[in-house]
Amino acid sequence: MENNHVTKLEIDLEAVDSNLQFFKSKLKPSTKLLVVVKAFGYGISAALLSKHLAKKVDYFAVAYTNEGIALRNAGITTPILVLHPQQTNFQKIIEHNLEPNLYSKKVLNSFISIAKNNNLKNYPIHLKFNTGLNRLGFEFKNINTIAPLLNSNSIKVASIFSHIAASEDLNEKKFTLKQINRFNEISEKIVETLGYTPMKHILNTSGILNYSNEAQFDMVRLGIGLYGFGNDKKQTENLKNVLQVKSIISQIHTINKGDTVGYNRAFTANTTIKTATIPIGHADGISRQLGNGIGYIYINNQIAPIIGNVCMDMIMVNVTNINCNEGDEVIVYKNQQHIEDLASKSHTIPYEILTAISQRVQRVLKKC
Ligand SMILES: *Cc1c(COP(=O)(O)O)cnc(C)c1O
Repeated sequence: MENNHVTKLEIDLEAVDSNLQFFKSKLKPSTKLLVVVKAFGYGISAALLSKHLAKKVDYFAVAYTNEGIALRNAGITTPILVLHPQQTNFQKIIEHNLEPNLYSKKVLNSFISIAKNNNLKNYPIHLKFNTGLNRLGFEFKNINTIAPLLNSNSIKVASIFSHIAASEDLNEKKFTLKQINRFNEISEKIVETLGYTPMKHILNTSGILNYSNEAQFDMVRLGIGLYGFGNDKKQTENLKNVLQVKSIISQIHTINKGDTVGYNRAFTANTTIKTATIPIGHADGISRQLGNGIGYIYINNQIAPIIGNVCMDMIMVNVTNINCNEGDEVIVYKNQQHIEDLASKSHTIPYEILTAISQRVQRVLKKC
């Protein structure tokens, strides 16, 4: 179905390239780059991003199998690591040439038996180790028990990896270094067990910014940084803005003193004001926490605060002092600073704001 919604997410691929260069400049030339495009490419567009990046990066990662299949259907032939593939999808993983992360004896066993049924030889898999996040992964002590499985010639360990719990927080540096140490011990033991050396990787965006000396290994996994967000405001300033969400004014109302706006009559005018109705709502990721003057959009470079409650498909904003007309363009998310401010005002992080942008918002490329 063609998406002709007037509310659009505009992607700046030149900004993506510039951010890619920024992170590459932090790395050794030999370090491989995996770009994380899970959750529809952090809400931007996994298909548009990965088509643009396919020749520029070594790997993509997605969370779930269907996300990997979507990339293959979009014509992407780059290796794709599926971080959380789910056993029931292993046959599909193989059919679409996706590379599973295997994180327990049970899933490793299950994948090997399916690989054998398919007469596969040296099928690339990835092993995740838990070094302190306590989310997914083998433990160091599991290595001996899985050693016989790892020697099956149906599979080949393409990489071993781990994930840092607090790579953005230098107050947790001691803990992070402990995770890195543990990963080093695991790596040594795995190489000894396998008799060959798979790739190793542990760093995400803030890991690259804070620990690229200690833990660069063979590859890094870049997500939010590529999309313009660093660890903190200062780091973010080095990154280019990748997306804007734009919409239009559907209708302008004059609200007289004493009249109310929106559901539950949450706003009452204490003087005559002018409002604009915008076609984007909480179903599109505008949190209800941003209602009642907390969140704001930009119209003609001026701030227009949200009035009353956020509706499912619409918001009303205060345009009393803004020169504007029905049909005018508005900017719902202007840049990283705007998104960071809205995130902090709604008690969340930019990751959640980006990934909450609904699929009914049209994705378009910015024209240069
Ligand atoms: C999401 C994810 C990343 C990317 O993290 P960013 O902070 O966005 O760079 C890397 N590794 C794993 C395992 C992830 O789940």
